[in-house]
Amino acid sequence: MIKRTHTCGQPRATDAGKTVALNGWVNTYRDQGRGLLFIDLRDRDGLCQVVFDLEQGHPDVVQAARALRREDVIGVRGTLRTRAGDPNPKLATGEVELVAEELEIFNKAENPPILPDEHDAEKIGEETRLKYRYIDLRRPRMQHILRTRSKVTKLARDYFAQNGFAEIETPLLIKSTPEGARDFIVPARLHPGMWYALPQSPQLFKQILMVAGFDRYIQVCKCLRDEDPRADRQAEFSQIDLEMSFVDREDVMAMMGGFARAVWQDVLGRDIGEIPRMTWQEAMDRFGIDRPDLRNPLEIRDVSDLVKASEFQVFQQALAKRRAGRDGCVKAIRVPGGAERLTRKMTDGYTEWVKQFRVGGVAVAKFTANGFDTGVAKHLEPFKDALVARLGLVPGDSVLIVADHWDAATKALGELRIRLGRDLGMVDEKDWRFLWVVDFPMFDWDDEGKRWVAMHHPFTSPNPDQFHLLEKDPGGCLSAGYDLVVNGSEIAGGSIRIHRMDVQEKVFKLIGLTQEDAELKFGFLLSALRHGAPPHGGIAFGLDRLVMHLVGTENIRDVIAFPKTQSGGDLMIDAPGPIDPQQVEDCGMRVTMIERA
Ligand code: ASP
Repeated sequence: MIKRTHTCGQPRATDAGKTVALNGWVNTYRDQGRGLLFIDLRDRDGLCQVVFDLEQGHPDVVQAARALRREDVIGVRGTLRTRAGDPNPKLATGEVELVAEELEIFNKAENPPILPDEHDAEKIGEETRLKYRYIDLRRPRMQHILRTRSKVTKLARDYFAQNGFAEIETPLLIKSTPEGARDFIVPARLHPGMWYALPQSPQLFKQILMVAGFDRYIQVCKCLRDEDPRADRQAEFSQIDLEMSFVDREDVMAMMGGFARAVWQDVLGRDIGEIPRMTWQEAMDRFGIDRPDLRNPLEIRDVSDLVKASEFQVFQQALAKRRAGRDGCVKAIRVPGGAERLTRKMTDGYTEWVKQFRVGGVAVAKFTANGFDTGVAKHLEPFKDALVARLGLVPGDSVLIVADHWDAATKALGELRIRLGRDLGMVDEKDWRFLWVVDFPMFDWDDEGKRWVAMHHPFTSPNPDQFHLLEKDPGGCLSAGYDLVVNGSEIAGGSIRIHRMDVQEKVFKLIGLTQEDAELKFGFLLSALRHGAPPHGGIAFGLDRLVMHLVGTENIRDVIAFPKTQSGGDLMIDAPGPIDPQQVEDCGMRVTMIERA
């Protein structure tokens, strides 16, 4: 076998005259006729031009080379020479070429259904790319992405090992851990009629490792959640999962912020500086979302108190509403220069678009030197001075207003703010804005189920000064949770955990678990909490999302070697698929399908 002396990206002018051997895939070939052929040979490292030239002898090699086609896998040995007169500045190896003296064809490739280049990837649908993933992954872009991913996991292991974390694996076959999604389930052959669940996260195991005295834990792990399809989700995704003992939230945030800093520094050469923080309430009030993109300069202001006396029906009706302990409200966004930048067509479009967030529409007005103009101007005019002061209006601006239940109005304006930022080109795509969001409410009120639901998960502790509110005012109780947000996306989320059994029991009760249920589902956790549990807390980074940011893609499938389609299929191995009835029977079962409309 011709074994390489260099990778295809390595040869340089200083190697001229050396005998060099390369291994790789035929990226392109050009047969010039008269016994002169060029190929670009590709491997993980780059491209190098190889020339087969009858004038240099080796007629059998030149003859064999004429049969080469794209994606054939070969070994080639020869003498490296400089490309006198026609260097290719686009290639790192562009100053040299290998004059072939020996050729070994390792594998002839069939005519490839897709080509591993960016042009083809754009043209060809993603389905074909996923079906022939082994060719798609040869693309330099995909190689770069998966290598970046590998760099991030290595960095995580190094950074956390230096800080005393131990990497510990937790099991895949477990019973359900409630992170709020549906479990993937596996029949237990040795216990007919019983089931394992695949972990939605190692949450309870990592907490138990703290009870077990490991103090600092890391795992790069798979999490499985059987959720309905969503463009940016995969049923099977990866986390960098962490837990620490004898810490408060400051310690966890400092450690994890340090990791984010190391990643951005090492991968992108960017210093992200100190990460600011904001309470959940402030994020919701100013940005209408718990993971605000701080690159977007638009902000929301509550003007309910200013327009209280308004006779405008829309405002009155909204202010009379009340849901989940919050009064209805009137909220506004000031769009600088909106009078010019926002066309009628745009604002009409927004009014329709926001209806999906269960609000009636958006009220719009321009602000001029003479006061409000167009749209709902006449309803704003009586409150002009107060509105100008609150919103910081200057002539030429527009105001967009939503009036409704607090949650609906907040959501609608939060989404509209994002859309406006994008439509008006107000977001600097090159910037990185990090943010810790803290002081989340412990619970959300579930109107249908008439019960509280844990906002993060039910193992999250109240903030140290909030324990007394657990029973008195669960809705007002804040948690010791924290999310790390970058450019409007959550890249990590975690909390200080409950480490006392009595508190854990109280939380279970609040979310509607009976003592029996709690014992049945989480008896092992409650038992561990009775046997010496240290104060502890942790976080999980979404590895896929982290890499998406670092390489600049919005497609989660780009950062996973073998991803699933939106409907959960693997097009390469054709999964899911039927199984042998015998395998089902071995589990003591028979399958009966339920007819679904
Ligand atoms: N287990 C949590 C999650 O997957 C993260 C954490 O609380 O550490 O979201």
